[in-house]
Amino acid sequence: MTERSHNLSLEEMDRQSVLHPFTHAKDYAAGELGDLRIVTGGSGVTIHDQKGRAYLDGFAGLYCVNVGYGRKEIADAIHAQASQLAYYHAYAMHSNEPTIRLSDRLLRNAPNNMQRVYYGMSGSDANETQAKLVWYYNNVRGKPEKKKIIARQRGYHGASVCSGSMTGLPVFHQAFDLPMERIKHAATPHYYWNARKGESEQEFSKRLAAELDAQIEAEGPETVAAFIGEPVLGTGGIIPPPEGYWAEIQKVLDKHDVLLIADEVVCGFGRTGSYYGSQHYGMKPDLVTIAKGLTSAYVPLSGAMIGEKVWEVLQQGSDQFGPFSHGYTYSAHPLGAAAALANLDILEGEDLTGNARDTGGYLQQRLHETFDGHPLVGEVRGVGLLAALEFVADPASQTAFDPGHKVGAKIAGACLERGLIARALPHGDILGFAPPLSITRAEVDRLVETSKEAVDALTDQLT
Ligand code: PLP
Repeated sequence: MTERSHNLSLEEMDRQSVLHPFTHAKDYAAGELGDLRIVTGGSGVTIHDQKGRAYLDGFAGLYCVNVGYGRKEIADAIHAQASQLAYYHAYAMHSNEPTIRLSDRLLRNAPNNMQRVYYGMSGSDANETQAKLVWYYNNVRGKPEKKKIIARQRGYHGASVCSGSMTGLPVFHQAFDLPMERIKHAATPHYYWNARKGESEQEFSKRLAAELDAQIEAEGPETVAAFIGEPVLGTGGIIPPPEGYWAEIQKVLDKHDVLLIADEVVCGFGRTGSYYGSQHYGMKPDLVTIAKGLTSAYVPLSGAMIGEKVWEVLQQGSDQFGPFSHGYTYSAHPLGAAAALANLDILEGEDLTGNARDTGGYLQQRLHETFDGHPLVGEVRGVGLLAALEFVADPASQTAFDPGHKVGAKIAGACLERGLIARALPHGDILGFAPPLSITRAEVDRLVETSKEAVDALTDQLT
């Protein structure tokens, strides 16, 4: 048992009391993981820690602080709402003004004619809601067998029981008895690693669609209810879809009466240079998941947006099942909605989607100029203010590093030593960038130059 002294430093107190996500629990508790960074403040694209160090946050927290840190307008909106009404629930004929105004605003800008918004607190719970909506939909339609949801290997949809099952990364499954039976996985649309020799991007997309078709046939189309995907595959590698991918996938889904859930948790609210990733790639989702950039993470808030097809059936369900029996205490929380409204005022007022397109284009260009042909870099990829570098042992023969060398993590560490936060993604040696959408060209220059120094430092060690 841990003896609790009353004279602990904050660092020691944390070590003895907090179970952190994605942290080696035993080594951290034993004090073997080095310095804890206690983040104390932030402004624009910069965060500060307890030791007074400043970092350019090239990942906007976890791709979520879209408008940047320290926006007083959002803090003021939260304060004003908390002073007037901090909480009331949205069950059984109750609502609150910011939720009503936010919902109307979201539906005006949503892709593919969304009809209703259901609110939660995280991307994980919103995807959990999507699964329940899909199951409800097919129960009402008298198709109780049609329940499987196909996600993708390396897709990321959260860490709860169902959303963690959708996530196609083994660390989210092993030791947790996941994935659930009903959740299946299709191939990763990564042209760099998975295309055949001589195959064009369009041919690769057609092949993946044919594979999905075969998978649905093998499962039995009468058992497959939905397909979930991020417009740009995110945490699994920041992989923009190959040319024609979503159009080809859509044909297969239509053929088998399978719904499309667009997980816009990362792409939504400007990141790709379009308001939604679905709009960027011409997707026709039936359900849309939003979180992160909805409030720029100033308050936790997520949403499951419901399109016409599902909404029609959901209404019929009322006659069969009575009230829609799914709810969280914090669904439609007024502080989340107030933060979201102030956040969208900034996002739209300052045209940060336009900045993601413009400054994002500049970021992509600078990364290509700097890293194409670099002896450690196999691929430079991205769209808007979402980008990745994939490191390989030999770009010419496309040979990956031994995962034991942890090259991606070491480069992220070298960036951090130089005052830049970039994220080593969990599958392969990949360094991801997703800065606040308010980033300037000068800050992009700093991000790219610091990354170059870090990559070169590691190249020197490896060669
Ligand atoms: N969906 C996507 C695409 C995400 O990137 C994430 C989180 O990174 C989630 C869902 C889960 O969101 P949360 O961590 O808020 O549960």
